[in-house]
Amino acid sequence: MKIIVNTDACIGCGACYNSAEDLFEMTDDGLSKAKVEEVPEDKKQAALDAIAGCPTGAITEE
Ligand code: SF4
Repeated sequence: MKIIVNTDACIGCGACYNSAEDLFEMTDDGLSKAKVEEVPEDKKQAALDAIAGCPTGAITEE
């Protein structure tokens, strides 16, 4: 499982980073970016929660 942040949709609220800082980082632009190439098995639920919690639907999984 991979997570992708659509930077056109991200508003930089930080919710994904705050809930899963192992998976997301905030860039100098103030937007979120996936921190990992592949989501570890034990972080999948955290990734799904971040996807569900993003207010703009900017995170997708692949
Ligand atoms: S939760 Fe969504 S809008 Fe907020 S920083 Fe993460 S990707 Fe961007």
